Amino acid sequence: MIKIGITGGIGSGKTTFCRQWEKNGVEIVYADDFAKKLMNEDPNLRENITKVFGEASYDSDGSLNRAYLAEEAFAKNRVEELNALVHPVLRKKLKEYADQKEREGTGIFAYEAAILLNEGRPDWLDYVVIVTADEKQRLHRTSKRDQVSEKEIQDRMDKQPDFEELFSLADFVIENSGTLQELQEKAEETLRTIQDISGK
Ligand code: ATP
Repeated sequence: MIKIGITGGIGSGKTTFCRQWEKNGVEIVYADDFAKKLMNEDPNLRENITKVFGEASYDSDGSLNRAYLAEEAFAKNRVEELNALVHPVLRKKLKEYADQKEREGTGIFAYEAAILLNEGRPDWLDYVVIVTADEKQRLHRTSKRDQVSEKEIQDRMDKQPDFEELFSLADFVIENSGTLQELQEKAEETLRTIQDISGK
């Protein structure tokens, strides 16, 4: 099974890139969705989040109170604390999930995550793709998508690494400064290249 990591800053277009790969039959795990599922379902993680962030982290029906946690994490500068709880569980469960997919005969497995290269390039990945676009485009596209101010997006961006400094860790750097269709074409072309060089 070929394992590929896809990353990039806020609004760079990594999810859009991955949606194209999904259409081409690639199995994708989105880190945000995967983490959310674990925060809802993993009993130890739930317990630890409640201990550190308080009972308000979960609603009375037991579901994750995302608005509260996002406020605690982003507005109160506690992202690192939350990541320290979630990431070790995420890494372990992701590996289990990828192993299961490999046993099932999956050909290409991709993992989309903003936090992928913060501690160097993970050695389990065969290929790394970084999607990039200039900051103005990313601000504009994200504020339009999320209906929030560019200032709020800028604050989140400032907490992310400078992906240009990470280009040397990637096998493919996808410039997303053109149209959506161009991005989709680049995604398909990258996939074909990976399939060609891997003989799959
Ligand atoms: P985040 O890290 O915030 O999840 P992302 O890197 O996954 O962002 P996307 O959600 O794929 O980025 O793209 C951000 C927004 O920009 C989306 O609304 C998407 O439709 C739009 N977008 C992406 N690429 C282009 C493009 N080339 N032209 C116009 N809009 C685009």
